[in-house]
Amino acid sequence: MTLPTDPAQNLAALIRCPSVTPAEGGALSSLEVMLKPLGFAIDRPVFKEDGTPDVENLYARRSGNGPHLMFAGHTDVVPVGDESAWTHPPFSAAIANGEMYGRGAVDMKGGIACFIAALARHIAQKGAPKGSVSLLITGDEEGPSINGTVKLLEWAVAKGETWDASIVGEPTNPDALGDMIKIGRRGSLSGTVTVNGRQGHVAYPHLADNPVRGLMTLTDALLNPVFDKGTKNFQPTNLEVTSIDVGNLATNVIPAKASATFNIRFNDTWDAETVQAEIHNRLDTASGRKKYRKGRKEAIDFELTWKDRPSHVFLTRDDKLIETLSGSVAAITGRKPQLSTSGGTSDARFIKDYCPVVEFGLVGKTMHMVDERVALDDLETLTTIYQRFIEDWFG
Ligand SMILES: [Zn+2]
Repeated sequence: MTLPTDPAQNLAALIRCPSVTPAEGGALSSLEVMLKPLGFAIDRPVFKEDGTPDVENLYARRSGNGPHLMFAGHTDVVPVGDESAWTHPPFSAAIANGEMYGRGAVDMKGGIACFIAALARHIAQKGAPKGSVSLLITGDEEGPSINGTVKLLEWAVAKGETWDASIVGEPTNPDALGDMIKIGRRGSLSGTVTVNGRQGHVAYPHLADNPVRGLMTLTDALLNPVFDKGTKNFQPTNLEVTSIDVGNLATNVIPAKASATFNIRFNDTWDAETVQAEIHNRLDTASGRKKYRKGRKEAIDFELTWKDRPSHVFLTRDDKLIETLSGSVAAITGRKPQLSTSGGTSDARFIKDYCPVVEFGLVGKTMHMVDERVALDDLETLTTIYQRFIEDWFG
């Protein structure tokens, strides 16, 4: 039986499956074909929830005597965008000038392809690793993330699974392989502040109350002063106003309501509760709820609503995991990777509740773009890094 030791071949098979979220597209079946000969037991649970599409996921486990390493990732991909703008069709896995083109090449079918090749090489060259290896692969990372990793983790735990460490194969390197390992992430929260005014004629402002004026005061209070200057492992907390909505088309009408939506990425100075309290406090103070401002008889009448669940800030502190991975990267690339907590959220935010988790994958430059592609050399290098990591971590 041939083992899936060639990352380019593994990746080509995955790219040819059009698995745009929530479609399975053949990608999980393709993984199953690769994993079976490596001795994995495979489950493909489908998760459902009202109002969201059903999503198929995959959990594969190769049992051994020793610690349990989980590799996590997703086979779903974002839409291709303008297909005619692609140099090579997005699901063809065409190779040109040493690069393989295709949606998901770096985010993140490529990472999965490399990990499987690394494990296959390890088994072929040195036999089974001294422990268990599992792959936790979702089809709902780029979508609502409801029927994916969260439920897959709960499902696996209900079956009695526990893990000692996890590596997520998302593209973490900004420019070149070896740039960056992610060891945590800032938290994220979104909210909307709505100011209620009194509608009226612009020529008779004394009869109306313009909510835009109050909203400007409140958004200014959200933005200033800065929340903090950053910490040892984290960038400064940052709030961005992402939308200001009045929806008033008439130039002679003072509107009744105005609202602003914002997102805040916060570091380990805060947690979701303290950052929410800080925002409430800023708005209460600026609105005059606490103390009326000069020249204004009434407090600004506003409501604050929080959107969704917050993502919590986290930092992985597992020396064995971090040092083994960063040592493997250094041994293969000759570069010492930066240990970073930058960037957007990933499924690591869910995994961190079950075991220490780090992220390392390909170079992210072309992810989500037209002409997403990966250098074949990078596939080979990442495979070698993962192989070294598997060897040393179980070692
Ligand atoms: Zn991804």
